[in-house]
Amino acid sequence: MTTYDYDLFVIGAGSGGVRAGRIAAKHGAKVAVAEEYRVGGTCVIRGCVPKKLLVYASKFAEDFEDAVGFGWTSEKVSFDWATLIENKDKEIDRLNKAYIRNLEGAGAELILERAVLEDRHTVRLASGRKVTAKYILIATGATPFVPRHLPGHQLAITSNEAFHLEKLPSRIVIVGGGYIAVEFAGIFSGLGVETVLLYRGEQILRGFDDDLRNHLAAEMIKKGVELRTETDVTRIDRSGDGVRVTLEGGAAFGAGQIMFATGRIPNVAGLGLEAAGVELTPHHAVKVDDYSRSSVDNIYAVGDVTNRANLTPVAIREGHAFADTVFGGRPTKVDHSLIPTAVFSQPEIGTVGLTEEEARRQVKAVDIYKTSFRPMKNTVSGRDERTLMKLVVDGETDRVLGCHICGPDAGEMAQLLGISLRLGATKADFDATMAVHPTAAEELVTLRDKWQPGR
Ligand code: NDP
Repeated sequence: MTTYDYDLFVIGAGSGGVRAGRIAAKHGAKVAVAEEYRVGGTCVIRGCVPKKLLVYASKFAEDFEDAVGFGWTSEKVSFDWATLIENKDKEIDRLNKAYIRNLEGAGAELILERAVLEDRHTVRLASGRKVTAKYILIATGATPFVPRHLPGHQLAITSNEAFHLEKLPSRIVIVGGGYIAVEFAGIFSGLGVETVLLYRGEQILRGFDDDLRNHLAAEMIKKGVELRTETDVTRIDRSGDGVRVTLEGGAAFGAGQIMFATGRIPNVAGLGLEAAGVELTPHHAVKVDDYSRSSVDNIYAVGDVTNRANLTPVAIREGHAFADTVFGGRPTKVDHSLIPTAVFSQPEIGTVGLTEEEARRQVKAVDIYKTSFRPMKNTVSGRDERTLMKLVVDGETDRVLGCHICGPDAGEMAQLLGISLRLGATKADFDATMAVHPTAAEELVTLRDKWQPGR
């Protein structure tokens, strides 16, 4: 019988790889996990966690303004970017160490080097050392996509660099209309940076419910973000300390920084996947089956490198399911339906289930319930910001197919709505649920009138 150095070799210590390595080790496997950058991966080191800390920071400007209506007189307030980044980095260091402790505590060996495949059982480390494993898990995540055909693209930053800017620019141009673009537009704008968001399509957040997209866009504009749709950058030139950005049609303007938030691509380059015979999808992601197994039966892949649903909790579930399947004697598939998600835009988005547009394509009759209101806090603060709530209901079965919210704490609501939708809640169940008063969420159980077009 062939013997291997390890039962499992994981490439990539992000959310998916760490969970898989930890659980496999707990199931008794001999595990090694290789990481070329920092343990924790995108989410912990330069994604969800630091992003949310920056979102918190950027919201204080409005909190100070709102406080006045509630009787507070604030002395002159000021903001220091360097302090924020230093404190953010301390927290990331703490989490990075906790991840290392958890992995090693479970008995996995951590190898802080780049690892590439030499063949289906052999991994070559950057130091030249070669090791063998019965199973290999690719959990290398994704990396920002930058349109490299664009003259001057190298003058732009991505979210990776945004977390480490030495100072805030007075003006920033953000290109893209997805999660990262709208989240960073809110962060920079809240921190007082003049923010221009450029999106090539008609409206930001393609794929989200149209009412939600329009509501968020309108609220972002009210907060001072300059949103320019149906436009794209054609070149970037250096200009003084900053850049000069030229758009389609020839218009040009200056800014301190330009940031691309134009999607992310699976991290597969130079990994030796071809040498091992691992097939890719047309989008250059590792092609996997329902159990995260690649075209080579001892090589699996989880998380963003598989480009299924590119979200941290999904990668964690996939990593866990892989370990249970291969080492726990319990074949487990991950259900990728009904994934609740939040966009930490300002205001925030929380959503789960079908958009109105998807529902109209999938079921015969769709009933829409929606409301837009001024949250209670804003009555006294005077802030001109509204919340949108929308339920998409199957007109024949009464089942709630989708919930879409744009407003404070929308992400928190989406988490719990995810349970209701998973249980198959009907509109009648929503109506029968007693309201929690006074909250914003109570609007979800007091929506009585079907929305009529043109009303
Ligand atoms: P997204 O896929 O969400 O959005 C990419 C945006 O860039 C789209 O608006 C797209 O336009 C645009 N774009 C793509 N290529 C070009 C191009 N060549 N020129 C101009 N615009 C372009 O990617 P993000 O980078 O925002 O985020 C990556 C993923 O990370 C997300 O999809 C999400 O899965 C995850 N994420 C999740 C977060 C959360 O849970 N809160 C936060 C941040 C990221 P178009 O719509 O026309 O294709």
